[in-house]
Amino acid sequence: MNRVLIGGAGVAGVAAARVLRAGGADVTLVSAKSSAGSDELADEGVAVVIADPAPIELLDGIDELVVSPGFTPRNPLVTAALDRGLEVYSEPELAWRLRGAGAPDWLGITGTNGKTTTTTMLAAILTAAGLSAAALGNIGEPLVFAASGISGPGHQLAGTPSYEVLAVELSSFQLHWSRDLAPRAGALLNLAEDHLDWHGSFEAYAQAKEAIWRAATPEGGGVAVGNLDDPRVAEALSRVTGRTVGFTLAAPNAGELGVRDGWLYDDAFGGGRLVEATAIRPPGAHNVSNALAAAALALSYGVGPAAVRDGLAGYRPEGHRNAYVATVAGVDYVDDSKATNPHAAYASLTAYPRVVWVAGGQLKGVDVGELVASVADRLAGAVLLGVDRAQVAQALARHAPQVPVVDVASVDDGAMGEVVRAAAELARPGDTVLLAPAAASLDMYPSYARRGDAFAAAVGELAERAGEPA
Ligand code: ADP
Repeated sequence: MNRVLIGGAGVAGVAAARVLRAGGADVTLVSAKSSAGSDELADEGVAVVIADPAPIELLDGIDELVVSPGFTPRNPLVTAALDRGLEVYSEPELAWRLRGAGAPDWLGITGTNGKTTTTTMLAAILTAAGLSAAALGNIGEPLVFAASGISGPGHQLAGTPSYEVLAVELSSFQLHWSRDLAPRAGALLNLAEDHLDWHGSFEAYAQAKEAIWRAATPEGGGVAVGNLDDPRVAEALSRVTGRTVGFTLAAPNAGELGVRDGWLYDDAFGGGRLVEATAIRPPGAHNVSNALAAAALALSYGVGPAAVRDGLAGYRPEGHRNAYVATVAGVDYVDDSKATNPHAAYASLTAYPRVVWVAGGQLKGVDVGELVASVADRLAGAVLLGVDRAQVAQALARHAPQVPVVDVASVDDGAMGEVVRAAAELARPGDTVLLAPAAASLDMYPSYARRGDAFAAAVGELAERAGEPA
């Protein structure tokens, strides 16, 4: 019997434990904190250990370690496992290994930004094509359930998974801890600095992401989809030995997807005009880019152009991604709380002509100087919050000294009302107040979604005071 240690009691870790246990493995789960799911696991025969740091002795007698993204390559449990020659891998890799006969196909998406948007766009296209499809990864049900057909206590590993094809979002962490996982087609959306503290270097981060193309070899027969407008992705794509399909916001060459006369255009699979660029939601050129990636993956899977058009035209964006909140006193308020790194913040800041920028949080070791310099001319003001706001303030002082800055000193979650009031003072009619923090939210909020909700609530209060419906 396999003896497996699982690190992390998040949704994916708990699901992995449950599936392995149902398959007859001897499973231990270790986590710094318990969770609703981990409490139930004990009843299913999983040994649950709550400890921080994870005791190294837990590795005694273990064959494999399945880790959640919280476990960096430098984590002592991980390094001890590798020293002992144990295999270390992520939940998606486990899901891949558990695929049985008739398991769904995988189409994979990775990149610094746009993963969830592209994954859900792809699922919308696949569904429009009449396929039974789901968007999975950070979203939806745990991948191990969908891939294996098991969904909870008492279920046996079923041989009949209920999906034909999965749109799978994969993070750099999950790809780092993978070996066999090889989606039939995989898209790399962009490569920018993020999570450098986790991976140790940009090169290591980029290399992890390129694993999305593992099947794109002459033997593997897979397809590598990549963003030609991103020089680092284009360079990586040029090294792929299997079939490649590039996409670009410019007019496409033969074998590519792009934008021609205002239409998303397929010059790779013979689909021609797909859908008008102005029909793509959420707004912004980066989302046209995401739509092209989703279209390329679907077309490579054999989906027809009509389903691409229907899927994209009917797509409903996920929350907190350039989500319009309200207009108060002629000023638009937009929640892009999901812009948790400078590359994402750049994409949304450049979608509006004059912006009062709400920024700051946890910068995760990345520099915002370049971002500030490149958007300085459109900033009508900036309101800073969060633990690393001094670094944003320094970048503004250096690269955009003309921009008025309000520093909201508080770093607790009651600060958002003050932030929005300060932004309203700086804005004039026609401006956009944009929450695109370029930083993670965890110093002040449990998630980016809660940060976005707090922003929307504060805008609601502002509207109420102004006597306008939010
Ligand atoms: P991810 O799942 O990779 O975090 P999301 O689809 O959730 O990506 O989008 C996160 C944020 O990144 C969005 O709110 C937007 O600010 C920005 N974004 C989305 N797509 C792109 C893109 N293609 N390039 C740059 N930034 C993007």
